[in-house]
Amino acid sequence: MLPWVKKVNVTMSAQPARPVFTGLLPPGLRTISNIVAVSSCKGGVGKSTVAVNLAYTLADMGARVGIFDADVYGPSLPTMVSPQYRLLEMNPETKTIIPTEYLGIKLVSFGFSGQGRAIMRGPMVSGVINQLLTTAEWGELDYLIIDMPPGTGDIHLTLCQVVPLTAAVIVTTPQKLSFIDVAKGVRMFSKLKVPCVAVVENMCHFDADGKRYYPFGRGSGSQVVQQFGIPHLFELPIRPTLSASGDGGMPEVVADPQGEVAKIFQDLGVCVVQQCAKIRQQVSTAVTYDKSLKAIKVKVPDSEEEFFLHPATVRRNDRSAQSVDEWTGEQKLQYGDIPEDIEPEEIRPMGNYAVSITWPDGFSQIAPYDQLQTIERLVDVPQPTSIQA
Ligand code: ADP
Repeated sequence: MLPWVKKVNVTMSAQPARPVFTGLLPPGLRTISNIVAVSSCKGGVGKSTVAVNLAYTLADMGARVGIFDADVYGPSLPTMVSPQYRLLEMNPETKTIIPTEYLGIKLVSFGFSGQGRAIMRGPMVSGVINQLLTTAEWGELDYLIIDMPPGTGDIHLTLCQVVPLTAAVIVTTPQKLSFIDVAKGVRMFSKLKVPCVAVVENMCHFDADGKRYYPFGRGSGSQVVQQFGIPHLFELPIRPTLSASGDGGMPEVVADPQGEVAKIFQDLGVCVVQQCAKIRQQVSTAVTYDKSLKAIKVKVPDSEEEFFLHPATVRRNDRSAQSVDEWTGEQKLQYGDIPEDIEPEEIRPMGNYAVSITWPDGFSQIAPYDQLQTIERLVDVPQPTSIQA
């Protein structure tokens, strides 16, 4: 707008985030930079509504986005969006799933698999989720939004094992009772080392006769934020249009991009982008095997600290049902069962919270980082000088 300016050069020094996950992941997931779970502890609180509108908001901000509807019991994505092709296709050569698309967002849902609402038991559900998520050709994505099934059960664990979630957004309603459920959800994610970056308190209030009503009371969302130190709370009003656009197959933020609801989602979108960028700067715990030292090396994030563990000690500390009686807590493995010179064959990260160690006898041990911290350390291996200091 300055009349004397004829030409402007802009140097952008900040690069868009690159995927940090390496070849250890299923190929379809390697090109995704951030994976964000949208979760609630009860059904019907508006989790899918938030997941879908958040996804379209991020896309509107210029990001490449995909939505994975993990709610196998009641997939809502097929109702909330209206893609031209309502069936997922399989690439016959690579046996990978090609996501369907609506307004530039890639979509995978059990509801697009042509099987309707099947009756499935727990292990089947985990299998289906695993297959849909890991064999989909997501391509390069800045954000994959996962619409989690409600609750804090097996499926969540499976998901967190298959993919390293970057962050979680929790959706709740203002009732006092919801607070208890939300607390459960936050604790689950924190056990799995997934930071909750925002709480969305849905159906907070509505306006009528020039007045604002809070039909479910106030305050449970802010209580969550205070108690768990979650940085952000977003209040979403009750809006008939939000429900109508969800049922009509066009997300509210697309139908009314200038509206009050779209504004709240823009704030949520900015929060998710900023928080994910922050989280990605923290490197996670790295566990590797040093063949020359015959020791497992554990590097703790955000510190210079690294320590070494004797492989046989790690194996002897396995707490799975194969090694420990689940009822009595009694150790089933005898000390001598594990050879002193046993060496791991492969160490692979599992989500953000554990590594999976494969041993020569085929046993695959899940070792949570917390547990590795408590195992007796090797002292007679070379230590970095900073530790000695
Ligand atoms: P969940 O995924 O938690 O089961 P949904 O997102 O499917 O919940 O929402 C349940 C129903 O409530 C849907 O019909 C949705 O359109 C409606 N809904 C969600 N949030 C609001 C809101 N703020 N105002 C009006 N209706 C809403």
